[in-house]
Amino acid sequence: MPEFLHTLPPVLAFFIFLAENMLIVSGVIGLGYFIQKRIDKNAVFFISTKEYVTAFITLFINTWITFAGFLLWQGGFIRFTTDFSFRILLDFFILLLVMDLVMYVLHLIIHHSVFYKPVHAFHHVYEKPSPIDLFVLSPFEAFAFGVLWLILIFFYTCNIYAVIAYLVTNVVFGMLGHLSIEPFPRYWLRIPGLKLICTSTFHYIHHQNGNYNFGFYTTIWDRIGNTLAPDYKEQFLKNKEKQT
Ligand SMILES: [Zn+2]
Ligand SMILES: [Zn+2]
Repeated sequence: MPEFLHTLPPVLAFFIFLAENMLIVSGVIGLGYFIQKRIDKNAVFFISTKEYVTAFITLFINTWITFAGFLLWQGGFIRFTTDFSFRILLDFFILLLVMDLVMYVLHLIIHHSVFYKPVHAFHHVYEKPSPIDLFVLSPFEAFAFGVLWLILIFFYTCNIYAVIAYLVTNVVFGMLGHLSIEPFPRYWLRIPGLKLICTSTFHYIHHQNGNYNFGFYTTIWDRIGNTLAPDYKEQFLKNKEKQT
């Protein structure tokens, strides 16, 4: 790791993370709407004040989580390896699959618990989500996701490039899941390996019907847990049909 990061003043680090998170939120909104407009020329851009305010609160929570992770790293509690080796790919898949599994289980539990209404229903207000809705979560949920992430990298020393790749993938899948249109190619669900990767329709269905599709990056755990929407393939093709 570059030496200056070890001695970077915390206040300066906080504002760097704030800027970074602002870039992520504006990037998701900008790129998301760009993709929507390219695929569907009639796409309507409307973001309510509630969505802006909540996304801003989530942005602030994410900044504090990044800052907490940085302080833990400066204090030697969280460590990363920095070698350019197969560990980058290995750690990337470990982080992706472990987070996918843990979030799948927690997501499934919250849908069937007393916490659904006070916590998760907040995100489910949007049956046709927009990219910004990735950040429209109850503050508790945003905080819990961040803590879960910090716990994982606290216990598992992983490669820093794998961490960066995972965080980028997390944002990209979050944006894709809230497009309400289908940018993935028509053949996607016909290819054995590819169909395990979540499409936009996959999470769109979850917003329409909270009984199915609890995964975030892969459809693996929904297939194993028998919670994959039975009409996933039909809905996917229907969404593609709408765009032609
Ligand atoms: Zn969602
Ligand atoms: Zn849900």
